[in-house]
Amino acid sequence: MSELALPGCTVVDHPLVKAKVTILRNKDTPTELFRRTLHELTALLAFEATRDLEVGEIDIETPLERCKGYRISKELTIVPILRAGLGMAEAMLDVLPQARLGHVGIYRNEKTFEPMSYYFKVPLDLEDSDVFLVDPMLATGNSAADAAAKLKAGGARRLRLIALLGCVTGAKLFHMQHPEVPVFLAALDEKLNERAYIVPGLGDAGDRYCET
Ligand code: URA
Repeated sequence: MSELALPGCTVVDHPLVKAKVTILRNKDTPTELFRRTLHELTALLAFEATRDLEVGEIDIETPLERCKGYRISKELTIVPILRAGLGMAEAMLDVLPQARLGHVGIYRNEKTFEPMSYYFKVPLDLEDSDVFLVDPMLATGNSAADAAAKLKAGGARRLRLIALLGCVTGAKLFHMQHPEVPVFLAALDEKLNERAYIVPGLGDAGDRYCET
């Protein structure tokens, strides 16, 4: 079950999601459990975010007889925003092992919170691909909106954003700039603090994942 919180934004409302978000939020969660939980939560969000993927019918044989089966018919591309999105990308590949992988490097200027782009490498011909942009934190929304604009300029037409935690400011900004891009979240927090961190949030997702 999922609930539509803001236009274009689905907050996946499920007991497993709620429990795993709590583990990520807890400052006492050790790195190993944080990583494992981030992977599991990403897979649960992927389940929702892939619900409308196109499938084609195929004929297969079980050990007993012939039957119809299904396969995802379109090319898939996963694009993490570096570096915090890397763990999510690995988890996405666990459930979509056929997907291609791109990378977008963006950090935010800690004074202006503007996105600073330093790397962009994605597979060619994004036009025919379902593209999943992944970043754990949709805070100001600037980095995700910038990455989505670059992916669209690179040809992406069917784009989705998966984040773990979002906040209202970021979700609104992203939707304003990319109204046609569905956003999937595990939780939506109310605000940002003066350093543009989501509160209550979970802290710095990249630092907690990488133990830096
Ligand atoms: N990036 C993070 O890692 N955490 C936040 O709260 C905001 C941006």
